[in-house]
Amino acid sequence: MNVKQQQVYRSGFVAIIGAPNVGKSTLLNKLLGQKLSITSKKPQTTRDRILGIANQPEAQFIFLDTPGIHQAHKPLNQRIVEVALSTLGDVDLILMLVDASKPDPVSENLLLKAVKNQNNPVVLALNKTDLIPKPALLTQIEKWHRSHDFKAIVPVSALTGDQLENLCDAMATSLPDGPPLFPDSMLTDMPERFITAEMIREKAFRLTGQEIPYSVAVTVDTFKEQKKGKLVSIQATIHVEQDSQKGIIIGKKGSKLKQIGKAARKEIERMVGTKVYLKLFVRVQKNWTKDTKALRRFGY
Ligand code: GDP
Ligand code: MG
Repeated sequence: MNVKQQQVYRSGFVAIIGAPNVGKSTLLNKLLGQKLSITSKKPQTTRDRILGIANQPEAQFIFLDTPGIHQAHKPLNQRIVEVALSTLGDVDLILMLVDASKPDPVSENLLLKAVKNQNNPVVLALNKTDLIPKPALLTQIEKWHRSHDFKAIVPVSALTGDQLENLCDAMATSLPDGPPLFPDSMLTDMPERFITAEMIREKAFRLTGQEIPYSVAVTVDTFKEQKKGKLVSIQATIHVEQDSQKGIIIGKKGSKLKQIGKAARKEIERMVGTKVYLKLFVRVQKNWTKDTKALRRFGY
C-alpha cells in the first residue's frame, strides 16, 4: 500500500457568514482562486446554492450560499439571524468572518448567537489584519477565545492573502473524513442532474460497505421543480451489472436502498436549497461498462 492512500482526505460543505463588508466575497474569491468551479448563473434562485469548490491537496471545501447573511443592502438584523439558524444546521463547517479593523459588537453578537444554536464546528477568521497593529489583534483574539468554543481563530488578510494557508488547514481539520464529493474531472460546468447522480452514486458506494463496484452508474431520469420551486422531485436509477449487486443495494426489505435514498436526499437538499422528493430504482444491466452506447447514455 502506498503512503498516499493512507493519508486522511476530508471534504464537506462550508458556509461563510459575516456582516456586510467584512470581506466574505474577497475571501471566497481568494480561496477559489483559479479553481473557481461552479459559477452561479442564476444567483437569485435557490437551486444555485453552491458558490464554488476549493480543492486542496488533502481537502475539498464546497462553499454554500447562506441566503440573507450576505445581502449587503439589508441590515444585519434578527430576521437574518433567523434565516441563518435555519440553514446553518446543514453544513459541516461554519466559517465566521469578522472585520478586525472595525469591530462591530452588535452584528458580532448576533452571529455568535446564531452559531451557538448549532452543533456544527465554527472556525473564526479575523479579517483585514493588514490594517491593524499586532497588539490590538492579540487583545481581540483573547476576547474571541472567551466568547465561544471555536475550532480555531485565525487572523487573516483576504486582500493580501496573508495567513490563508493557516485558515485552510484549520478548516480542513474540522471537516469530516471522506473522499472528494466532486471529483476533479467534473469541476467545470456541472449540471445539477450530474451532481445529483454523483451524490447518489457516492452514497450507494459508501453505505454498502463498498461491496459494490465503484463503477456503479446512476442516471437521473426526472428532475422537476414543483410547488413553485419549493420542492424538487427526482427519480433516479442505480445501474448495476449483476443481480447480486442489486440485492446488496436494496438490502433486507429495502432497508439499504432507503438508507441510501435518505442520505442522498439530505445532500441534494443542501445543494438545491429546497425540500427534495427522491425516488430510487435499481436496475441490472449486464456489462454496461463495456457497452459504449450505454456509456454514452450515462454521460461518461
Ligand atoms: P462582503 O460584503 O463581506 O462580501 O465584503 P467584500 O469582500 O465585498 O469586501 C468589502 C471591502 O473590504 C472591499 O472594499 C474589500 O476590498 C475590502 N477588504 C476585504 N478584505 C480585506 C482585507 O483583508 N484587508 C483590507 N484592507 N481590505 C479588505
Ligand atoms: Mg459580498
